[in-house]
Amino acid sequence: MIASMYVYHGPEGLTQIARSVHRRACVLAAGLRKLGFAPQSEAFFDTLTVETGPKAGEIAARALAERINLRLGERTLGISLDETTTAKEVEAVWRAFGGKLAYTEIEAGARDAVPPELKRASGFLAHPVFHAHRSETELLRYMRKLSDRDLALDRAMIPLGSCTMKLNATTDMIPLTWPEFAHLHPFAPREQAKGYHALFARLERWLCDITGYDAVSLQPNSGAQGEYAGLLAIRGYHAARGEPHRKVCLIPSSAHGTNPASAHMAGMEVVVVACDSRGDVDVNDLRAKAEEHSNDLAAIMITYPSTHGVFEEHIREICDVVHGHGGQVYLDGANLNAQVGLSRPGDYGADVSHLNLHKTFCIPHGGGGPGMGPIGVRAHLVPFLPGHPDTSGAKPYAVGPVSAAPFGSPSILTISYIYILMMSGEGLTRATEIAILNANYIANRLDPHFPVLYRNAKGRVAHECIVDPRPLKTSSGVTVDDIAKRLIDYGFHAPTMSFPVPGTLMIEPTESESKAEIDRFCDAMIAIRQEIAEIEAGRWKVEASPLRHAPHTVHDIADDGWQRAYSRAEGCFPAGTSRSDKYWSPVGRVDNVYGDRHLVCSCPPVADYAQAAE
Ligand SMILES: *Cc1c(COP(=O)(O)O)cnc(C)c1O
Repeated sequence: MIASMYVYHGPEGLTQIARSVHRRACVLAAGLRKLGFAPQSEAFFDTLTVETGPKAGEIAARALAERINLRLGERTLGISLDETTTAKEVEAVWRAFGGKLAYTEIEAGARDAVPPELKRASGFLAHPVFHAHRSETELLRYMRKLSDRDLALDRAMIPLGSCTMKLNATTDMIPLTWPEFAHLHPFAPREQAKGYHALFARLERWLCDITGYDAVSLQPNSGAQGEYAGLLAIRGYHAARGEPHRKVCLIPSSAHGTNPASAHMAGMEVVVVACDSRGDVDVNDLRAKAEEHSNDLAAIMITYPSTHGVFEEHIREICDVVHGHGGQVYLDGANLNAQVGLSRPGDYGADVSHLNLHKTFCIPHGGGGPGMGPIGVRAHLVPFLPGHPDTSGAKPYAVGPVSAAPFGSPSILTISYIYILMMSGEGLTRATEIAILNANYIANRLDPHFPVLYRNAKGRVAHECIVDPRPLKTSSGVTVDDIAKRLIDYGFHAPTMSFPVPGTLMIEPTESESKAEIDRFCDAMIAIRQEIAEIEAGRWKVEASPLRHAPHTVHDIADDGWQRAYSRAEGCFPAGTSRSDKYWSPVGRVDNVYGDRHLVCSCPPVADYAQAAE
């Protein structure tokens, strides 16, 4: 989001920034030449490499005394500049190289170092958006306009099952803006980042305490990357024991799509395990598959509570079966929001898990990131955690890095750190209990209207539940899409649709929602069920109903010639929707399938770009 706000600069602004960075680099180079350190290359943009001979270390040490890090090679030093580099800092670099030069004097003689044949002549960023927001006020209004179009957590509950959307408290978020965290480079020398390392160490300890594992790696940047790292650890473990042929990975049919994808990426062979009618792993099928692949069994990937939203009562038995055949248990920790403080994967038999800090531990993830997916492991897998040339030296079996930086996206770890710190063990446990309570409340309120698909033997769900509107398609023609889109008219973001069961809705309220908001959501769902009943009763056909035309937009309400079978008020302000705080969807129904298969561009026509470029 921050990067996208560079629209403010437009092509002229970006060019200006690039020019100023390059200019600084040219002046730096001119000064260094004067001091007898010509850059290795005559052509450069913002980075210079300088031959120093045996003096590299000495110069780097003097730079460090000026609070400047240079990249130390064998007999070279690397220097990168950006638009924040000042003339004073350039002078300090010269001092480190042993010269007392004045920036303004050197600048007068500095020449451009971008070869003419590499210079861009064509125009770029011709779209109006790169030209329209050139004052702070305009930019502010642009941001506001975009956020007004969004149905985000600051307006209403986003009950996305499996992808926990809980409160991202302002207090959790603020520290990441502090320069002490925000302005540190991921490869800053360790001794300059002691605060960060203290934070990493504490967070790792807390996550071990929460999960029951012996060690945590903070390197993976997402759940999927954590899965990949965890499976590499399992492969490393088998290989070190002389069993590199163990490559079969059992995955229940209910698994999240990233599970089989990660298994393939880690070079494993996926064997699917069936689920029973209650949605649980079919333990007999598991036994049979584990037996069949006993010699080559690498692992099982299992989610607990399952993606069906139920605490799998056979979890210990499942772990035992897999261990009995020499396999390891990868427990997908995406649903840790139902476990923190109540149960620990390390205690009931799992060997490794990823934790989605952007789900359970409050890092915001609307729009797809950034996230953090650290993995926890039991002691025997510790040697196979991802290493990094920057921090780890060569460990005997250590797998290589899974992400560019040794600690993933460290600045956002501050969010989870503050969250855990403020909640404490007691608060975290209470949050889990409330999350489970909220889900069961929803399951019970909605069940008479939309049956809850899976529950445990006592009729309970975990922290989320799947409701099943599929029979309504037969009785009324209403699809799960119609319900999801109609929820927008009621002011709600739709729950997760058609995952893990096609045609159903997966609802996760989290502990962050008040009873009032949960009731507002349930009321909306029940009102929608009434609308479906009207179709069933023959008031109108599904094609003519407000459900099929949802979501309704300002165009619907304002355009002349309303031709629908229902009134404008029924369409735009269904039961109980506030007229003063109405969320207006910026677009009406789109053809999802068409959009998935065709590139649909809403930009100005390509011809306009061609013209602008000329
Ligand atoms: C979200 C999720 C994942 C993947 O995590 P990302 O951080 O999105 O890569 C894996 N498994 C389950 C069950 C999930 O809900």
